Amino acid sequence: MKEKKPAFILPIIIAIVLSLMYFVVIPSMMAPQVKEISYSEFKTMLKEDKVAEVEFGPYYIEIIPVAQEDSYAKVTYRTGRLYDVEHTTLMEELEASGVKYGSPIQKDNTFTQVLMYIILPTLLTGAIMILIMRNMSKKMGGGVMSFGKNTSKLYAEKSTGKTFLDVAGQDEAKVALKEIIDFLNYPAKYTSIGAKLPKGALLVGPPGTGKTLMAKAVAGEAHVPFFSLSGSEFVEMFVGMGAARVRDLFKQAVSNAPCIVFIDEIDAIGKSRDNTLGGNDEREQTLNQLLSEMDGFDSSKGVVILAATNRPEVLDKALLRPGRFDRRITVDLPDLEGRVAILNVHARHVIMDTEVDLDVIARQTPGASGADLENIINEAALRAVRKNKNKVFQTDLEEAVEVILAGEERKNKVLSDKEKNIVAYHEIGHALVAARLSNTEPVHKITIIPRTSGALGYTMQVAKEEKNLMSKEEALEHICVLAGGRAAEELVFNSITTGAANDIERATQIARLMVTQYGMSNEFGFVNLEKKTNMFLSDNVTGSYSDATAARIDAEIMKIISDCYSRTMNLLKENRKELDALAAKLYEKENITGQEFMNLLAEADQSSTSSPTVTS
Ligand code: ADP
Ligand code: MG
Ligand code: ZN
Repeated sequence: MKEKKPAFILPIIIAIVLSLMYFVVIPSMMAPQVKEISYSEFKTMLKEDKVAEVEFGPYYIEIIPVAQEDSYAKVTYRTGRLYDVEHTTLMEELEASGVKYGSPIQKDNTFTQVLMYIILPTLLTGAIMILIMRNMSKKMGGGVMSFGKNTSKLYAEKSTGKTFLDVAGQDEAKVALKEIIDFLNYPAKYTSIGAKLPKGALLVGPPGTGKTLMAKAVAGEAHVPFFSLSGSEFVEMFVGMGAARVRDLFKQAVSNAPCIVFIDEIDAIGKSRDNTLGGNDEREQTLNQLLSEMDGFDSSKGVVILAATNRPEVLDKALLRPGRFDRRITVDLPDLEGRVAILNVHARHVIMDTEVDLDVIARQTPGASGADLENIINEAALRAVRKNKNKVFQTDLEEAVEVILAGEERKNKVLSDKEKNIVAYHEIGHALVAARLSNTEPVHKITIIPRTSGALGYTMQVAKEEKNLMSKEEALEHICVLAGGRAAEELVFNSITTGAANDIERATQIARLMVTQYGMSNEFGFVNLEKKTNMFLSDNVTGSYSDATAARIDAEIMKIISDCYSRTMNLLKENRKELDALAAKLYEKENITGQEFMNLLAEADQSSTSSPTVTS
């Protein structure tokens, strides 16, 4: 639950009041009244026989008068010491008048002493410390002091305020979740017919695709509270704490039913138990607790567990069996239509120029997640503010896309003329190959302004429409386009640079996929050699083949690449005039849009065809 008042203040006030009582009020009540008198007054009292007893303190003399019947109050007197006088006469006078004298002895017995000065203060300070620590640890979300009872990491919302309107696209996921919403709203409808209700659903998909958002939207649509906890928060310093947290979570949820419990990043606890060396006691206990809680609770109460992960393949099988997270809902990267919808959702909050075309932006961002797209809109708005505009224009959005893809422009990085020329040829090499081949995506923009990502320039291609399949021809021509930069350098300068490293990496990867996963090689054909280890996160693959096969795979990859490279080189040789003309233009302008590029190419074509060709 969320903290409502600054609970810090209470223990501090209590501490202050207690210490005031302890150190000021109580001593003053218990202490006898002391009156200060002068030495001569003391002498007078002595002469008048009013003194019963005298005690010599280090700095003063305490005088206990002869008891007065009329007063309860014990009054004692006190006067400063006069050492030289005392030694000569005072002792004799005291002896003469029969007054008891001496220096003070400890009047309190040891027990009260210890109680007063050691035990009580210790207990008091300890109590105050514990009060403060408990409050602090509550604030900071648990800790050593909480010993498993603490549920404050639990993040609860009465209503999330999100609905399916906030989640653009993802229609299949929404359909799958509609039933859960209906069940939360009308459980009787399901129980009366004897249907077992789903206990949990697992949302799987790459990061940033809106899994968390979707879970909140389900709670919002069903108008039920939303309890959420991240998987990593279960796993604590001490064995057993995670399990205690799971218990707490379910207890809270059941008492708040109907509600949604959301466990984010469930792979942190739900990792398969058998494939780790040594194991992790804490995680396993937590997982076991989760499994048994899921079995134990009565779903007719209206508690639905949603969980999210981007690593479904590592989850323990036990989590996925019926009666637990038996529904699996894929929340995938948005397609073109989805991207337009997401951009529109986030553009609602931003003032946009009427000319803005989000469709174009969506086409420039294949593979972008919802979170990326949100980021692009925000980046564009920030740019507009930086440029003192009062709304966002298309150029801001396009710049934002480039910033997300390639980093900010590095205005202060100055390329030498020679390098700038090389980069211009390199980029036109890519663009020209893309333009001349038929199975490639059109050029959208070419730039030779360096970026913070380290790129000295880049050629951006944007597909006309969303592609779901890639043909072998497209894959090969993609490699050709990637090779275009390096080929242009080699052709024109007869030397090569490091600038093609990233192109080479990508080309090699495509060739590798063609051979090992897509069955597009002549050597192996329709055979799978490697598998992806994770669907959503990385491109890591595993393969099991002999060293001999590995060598053949490598040879096949090299053959594909070298074939593409010579094809590209020939193409550029045939288009040498266009290459020179366009590179010169790019060198001069630094940025060329796709349209300008096509116009320039047409011009160059015109002049080259009209120029007399001399053939023998
Ligand atoms: P995940 O949990 O899948 O990693 P999140 O739910 O945290 O992703 O999404 C991050 C942000 O991205 C959301 O807050 C939202 O603003 C934006 N977002 C992601 N997907 C969508 C979508 N389909 N529609 C609208 N916004 C989205
Ligand atoms: Mg998330
Ligand atoms: Zn390149």
